[in-house]
Amino acid sequence: MDKIEHIGIAVKNLEEANKIYTSLLGASPYKTETVASEGVSTSFFKCGQSKIELLEATNADSPIAKFIEKRGEGIHHLAFSVANIEEEVARLKTEGFQVLNETPKKGADGKLVVFLHPKSAHGVLIELCQDINS
Ligand code: ZN
Repeated sequence: MDKIEHIGIAVKNLEEANKIYTSLLGASPYKTETVASEGVSTSFFKCGQSKIELLEATNADSPIAKFIEKRGEGIHHLAFSVANIEEEVARLKTEGFQVLNETPKKGADGKLVVFLHPKSAHGVLIELCQDINS
């Protein structure tokens, strides 16, 4: 794993959260994007080498809607950037991690992503992401 690529935060209202995080970080989101397949609208902020991803549910069945219902707003996942996502998934499987989607899928911000079950990582949803162009 190379570094923490971003931290994902589940929010009820993306527009409101964008304002707060713009004030906090002193910069507007560099990108907003809806990932229909995941039922989320997202916005991304840069903070030095790291990023913050805000996620709002676009429908009641969205994993973000379920997360907020269960745990309220807050940190939803940690994303690590990896050079080769297939290799990393294979390695983590042999280490006993439960992979939620074995085939990398297209996530937000030009990434291929795989998620690991929070049960595998002491309650934290882990995202692996690889730049699609790398
Ligand atoms: Zn993410």
